[in-house]
Amino acid sequence: MTAILWLRRDLRLDDNPALQAALATGAAVLPVYIHAPDEESPWEPGGASRWWLHASLRSLDAALRERGSRLHIARGDSLNVLKQLAAETGATQVHWSRLYDPSTRERDTRIKQALRAAGLRCESHGSALLFEPWEISTAEHQPYRVFSAFWRACVKALTEPRPVAAPDRLPPPPEIDGGVSLDALGLLPRIPWDDGLKATWNPGEFSARERTEEFLDGQVADYSELRDQPGIPGTSRLAPHLHFGEISPRRILSMVIERFGDPTAKPVEAFVREVGWREFGYHLLYHFPQTPTEPLNRQFADFPWASAEVEAQLRAWQRGQTGIPMVDAGMRELWHSGWMHNRVRMVVASFLTKNLLIPWQDGARWFWDTLVDADLASNTLGWQWTAGCGADAAPYFRVFNPVRQGERFDPDGRYVRRWCPELRELPDKYLHQPWAAPETLLRSAGVKLGESYPAPMVDLGKSRARALAAYEQVKG
Ligand SMILES: Cc1cc2nc3c(=O)[nH]c(=O)nc-3n(C[C@H](O)[C@H](O)[C@H](O)COP(=O)(O)OP(=O)(O)OC[C@H]3O[C@@H](n4cnc5c(N)ncnc54)[C@H](O)[C@@H]3O)c2cc1C
Repeated sequence: MTAILWLRRDLRLDDNPALQAALATGAAVLPVYIHAPDEESPWEPGGASRWWLHASLRSLDAALRERGSRLHIARGDSLNVLKQLAAETGATQVHWSRLYDPSTRERDTRIKQALRAAGLRCESHGSALLFEPWEISTAEHQPYRVFSAFWRACVKALTEPRPVAAPDRLPPPPEIDGGVSLDALGLLPRIPWDDGLKATWNPGEFSARERTEEFLDGQVADYSELRDQPGIPGTSRLAPHLHFGEISPRRILSMVIERFGDPTAKPVEAFVREVGWREFGYHLLYHFPQTPTEPLNRQFADFPWASAEVEAQLRAWQRGQTGIPMVDAGMRELWHSGWMHNRVRMVVASFLTKNLLIPWQDGARWFWDTLVDADLASNTLGWQWTAGCGADAAPYFRVFNPVRQGERFDPDGRYVRRWCPELRELPDKYLHQPWAAPETLLRSAGVKLGESYPAPMVDLGKSRARALAAYEQVKG
């Protein structure tokens, strides 16, 4: 007898209910990863995510082998592969962890029905969230649209999780033919642009756990104070590990409780609340599945986005060549490392959607391709929030001023100097607005606007006024 464990974005052995359920059958367990063709989702992982996935699968296979098992990797239509594997091994059960993006949900429902019709027992398990998206609702049984109320309801419902540790040994998987090597999936870039990713990240369950311990034993104490300063490593950097399910939020919560008792007490409350924003993103994606491409607030469907020079401006933004230091620093950090600090994500997203009037969907797509933590729920939430058209959104008239944001959150210029080294010699006073510096000062700092560093592509004041005028048209 065999149970198939279909691993997708739960690339871990710790606190993995699908693995536990497969083991509980007492059968041989076949851990499988299926690389499905593009047609199964319009949200195929982008380049940075694929890089991460490759390393994470390698690490998972190593962890399985240490315990007497291994990862079977296959390529093709998910349903066909599962059916073939079941036929070949005589498997009677398939277990997997639930995913919530609309196209994957549809596919999984179809697969579940087909496998059940073929006589297999099929079970999906909750594993990626503290609460399933349907478990939290308003008194009127409606989904929440406001984070504070949503999170209050979550906190009230929180119980201490009891995550099950990774087993020491696993039953050997059945011998089967076929499958492909990890390299054959072609997840790594053909032209090697990934040096920055390699230097920055260490994917896999082991480092996810290590990072969590390090963060909870150190930085978390200053998290609420330092989390907004991009020049300081003050946040957990757990987002890509969470996205790929290398650690579960339940495990994180239990580690928090182990150390601090109450997860809503200082100094961890602010950090746990951010994990709550992730839950909120999934709650919204589940209940409003159209939102990766359409504004939650329907008023914004007819927003008068810019039509001139959009391609060129989008390219300059993507490449960190807007002439606005805080924006360029963020976009260059993203390109180099596959990550951008949250404060700066808001600044660059506001600049794109408001100062340039370029649709948030274009920005979200670029993030999707370049972020190692690209996540349909959190990315959609972040972009719609900043653009002002989502749940609990920043009001549209709130246009982040990248100069003020820089002065406030990067006061010593550490962040901008790191990513825009051509501005390094400018004094702090002008670092966030080089165009305001006297010519002699620019010259002595070796800065020539339009040559060594771009002149600002828009006037911040005028473009803000244009954005507010556009908003007046949809305000109703
Ligand atoms: C425009 C925009 C796009 C974004 N796109 C993504 C994305 O694709 N994937 C992604 O994981 N996050 C996204 N975020 C949210 C946030 O920026 C990142 O989760 C955070 O920067 C990750 O860094 P960290 O792990 O050090 O976070 P920490 O500050 O240490 O927070 C801990 C965890 O909480 C979660 N979290 C924190 N802030 C948020 C938030 N605002 N929304 C949802 N979850 C949050 C993450 O899982 C994070 O790992 C986006 C935000 C914006 C404004």
